Amino acid sequence: MIFKIRILYYLIEIKLIKLLFNNNLNKLQTWRWKVLLKKISSSPFYSPLIKHQFKNFPILDKKEFLKNFDLINTKNISFDKASEIALKAEKTRDFKPSVNNITVGLSTGTSGNKAVFLASEKERAYWTATIIDRVIGWSFRKRKVAFFLRANSNLYESVNSKLIDFNFFDLLVSSEQNLKKLQLLNPNVLVAQPSMLLEIADAIKNNTLKIKPDKIISVAEALYVDDKRYLEKIFNQKIHQVYQCNEGFLAHTCKYGNLHFNEDFLIIEKQYLDKEKKRFFPIITDLKRTTQPIIRYKLDDIIHEKFDCLCSLKSTAIEMVEGRNDDVLKLINNKGDIVLVFPDFVRRAVIFSDKNIFNYSVTQKEKNLIDLFIEGEDLQYENAKKSIIELLRNLEIEGVKITRSKNLDHVKGTKLRRIKNEYKISN
Ligand SMILES: [Zn+2]
Repeated sequence: MIFKIRILYYLIEIKLIKLLFNNNLNKLQTWRWKVLLKKISSSPFYSPLIKHQFKNFPILDKKEFLKNFDLINTKNISFDKASEIALKAEKTRDFKPSVNNITVGLSTGTSGNKAVFLASEKERAYWTATIIDRVIGWSFRKRKVAFFLRANSNLYESVNSKLIDFNFFDLLVSSEQNLKKLQLLNPNVLVAQPSMLLEIADAIKNNTLKIKPDKIISVAEALYVDDKRYLEKIFNQKIHQVYQCNEGFLAHTCKYGNLHFNEDFLIIEKQYLDKEKKRFFPIITDLKRTTQPIIRYKLDDIIHEKFDCLCSLKSTAIEMVEGRNDDVLKLINNKGDIVLVFPDFVRRAVIFSDKNIFNYSVTQKEKNLIDLFIEGEDLQYENAKKSIIELLRNLEIEGVKITRSKNLDHVKGTKLRRIKNEYKISN
């Protein structure tokens, strides 16, 4: 089937399923799980498990998932072969590397460990259909879409048609070049990660860029509340979000601007991190992926659940994606115990210390050393520093040294994480 026809087919399927199951997520997931089981019998890893209950399937983290890469996928593709192809493509800037018609995607994790993902043409078409269905939206007016991506996010497909004109922007190209191209395009829909949206917003503020998108969608990185507020002010409209990674398209915003998990094709289990059951790691099962089944895959992201969205969606809503497990500061208190200091606490301490702080980063460098970057005057830096010290004192953590960093701790082309921990404590 031609790729575009497939997309259309899936768009119709998505609408039909909505009608048939009428938001009964449980029933839909059970049905899809049964269908999935039939399709993964050629996975050497899962075939012995097929007769078992869902709960008996093992929970895999990224490390275990990659360790069993060769056995998990249903196309007999080895990890070595797939990563060789993906790495070669990265060097030659070929955005569609494939092996036996299966697209290979490479993600270089924050801690340097690379992950390889596989997707068939069908799966990519389904991904595109869901993005059109719940992110870009249907319209009979031709729309130009500017899509900023990391070079290695090659699971995506550009679909140009009479109605949608996708334009790919490479994040590793200089900002100057990208902004020029953006001005020429003047897109109706702008899709980019927060760090890029912030750059675009700055250019608009400085009058060096004049674009008027109707819809703005933030992808790939956690969108911090304060950054969201700033972007909404500059663009003068709501910032929509897509929670998406190589593991799949996980969540999209509803009409109230709240993120909801795509539970019509995902099963989300929650592994709570705290007694209050506020934060959890999601364990995802993608009911539509069969080339490389994603079953009970534990993500490293810390999610806060939202309980009070007023929209009609029955799927789990997200208050915020707080960051990754790697972003949690691990400091020693006065009793010698390790205390987890969640990124959101640190963010609040910084932001609420001074109303003129917008751009900042906090990095734990050593056991008791924190690097703090604050854009602004000495006063802003001192206020933020004082506020962090107070936060730590409340957690009975003393003796942490805070040093001033001259630059934002962010490498272009990588995810912006304002709070992070580079010190690996053994616990
Ligand atoms: Zn909602």
